Amino acid sequence: MLANLHNADIPQPVLDVIARLRELGHAVYLVGGCVRDMVRKVHPKDFDVATSALPEEVQRAFRKVIPTGIQHGTVTVVQGGTHVEVTTFRSEGDYLDGRRPSSVAFERDIVKDLSRRDFTINAMAYNPLDRDLADPFGGQTDLQAQLIRCVGSALERFSEDGLRPMRAVRFAAVLGFSLDPDTRDAIPATLAVFRKVALERVREELTKLLLSPRAEGGLLLLSETGLLDVFLPEVARATPEAARLARAAVQAAPNDIEIRVAVLLADLVDRAQARDIGLRLKFPNKVADLVALLVETAKLEERFSDTDPSLRRLLARVGLPQLPQLLAVARARVQVRAPERLSDLERLCARLEALAAAKPPLVPKDLALTGGDIMATLAVGPSPIVGEATRFLMDSVLDEPALNTAEGLKQRLQAWQSARTGA
Ligand code: ATP
Ligand code: MG
Repeated sequence: MLANLHNADIPQPVLDVIARLRELGHAVYLVGGCVRDMVRKVHPKDFDVATSALPEEVQRAFRKVIPTGIQHGTVTVVQGGTHVEVTTFRSEGDYLDGRRPSSVAFERDIVKDLSRRDFTINAMAYNPLDRDLADPFGGQTDLQAQLIRCVGSALERFSEDGLRPMRAVRFAAVLGFSLDPDTRDAIPATLAVFRKVALERVREELTKLLLSPRAEGGLLLLSETGLLDVFLPEVARATPEAARLARAAVQAAPNDIEIRVAVLLADLVDRAQARDIGLRLKFPNKVADLVALLVETAKLEERFSDTDPSLRRLLARVGLPQLPQLLAVARARVQVRAPERLSDLERLCARLEALAAAKPPLVPKDLALTGGDIMATLAVGPSPIVGEATRFLMDSVLDEPALNTAEGLKQRLQAWQSARTGA
């Protein structure tokens, strides 16, 4: 495993930052996720540097430095066009609220810094110039055994920061690892602390879990440990069979957060609940709205005998840009719930795509008449009747797109007006 580290491809600017701090006599290491990933022979997303140098010393050592989170000891060194995060070795004071430490202190010793980290596999440090690995908690062994294990007592670590159990399950899903038994058992015992965590932080971990290659297993683990009931009771309280189908459908869906959340919820909640859940988990409004729309329209298997006008109304409701996501949601659900209906579903998908490709008028601005044209035809000024007329014309062209010519619509409109005034 050391060979993996020695052979890892570390970007030159990162090496330059490490070399400079080392030259000034500071202890300096790569830490956390990047070391874990290099040991696994996975190219890290980002390279975090930790050093004994104080933030001011780091600032003085480089020409261009952004004081990103200087009160926590983190600065960003701009080196060779890339950003390198450098954090001073830290230890943390007591956690009083289950969310954040009461104080942080800068440290001289890497082991102090590693001991505040969550899991053994995330608590390794490596200096590539000296080829020096610090692994005081057995991270390499746990990587080999594919185990997520807390640094120190799981009960204590989960009581300090209530997000950690969620991270444990997330890493298990992302890496395909198991939870060490003590770590797993500490989750139900510390749920009261997890309840205090900001849902925004929970959502970030949930998103990584849902987009991981083992989302299904991750969701099951969330459910078994009691975590899911805290932030998604609607799913946690589904019948075992309904929950199993929902998890399997998520796994079958493409890797897109809106699609996967919609697939998870579509057979368990309605549109309004889906939107509330999205907002509760602090997804952006746009995401919550789209998830709600996908949940509302997901059950395409109920539309196999729909007419073209009815399918055009569905397209108008969903919006053409969202059609691929709707089809993906329906496919994933039907694949696990009713595989024998997949060929019927594919026929429906093809019909929807063909109707969409014909670019039918779906919204008022697609009409061959403008609002001004409509007022002129009816000989009225701005008034509620214009809205009614527009809805009438939209309805007509959704039934029959070929009607969408200026002449055709004017005639329909005049007939509509005489029918109204005659009545
Ligand atoms: P990813 O590849 O998903 O970014 P990562 O290991 O880099 O994984 P981050 O959330 O970016 O995860 O955190 C970076 C490092 O900071 C972790 O590897 C871990 O050492 C430490 N860490 C992050 N969050 C916590 C926490 N809540 N408690 C303790 N240590 C943490
Ligand atoms: Mg990271």
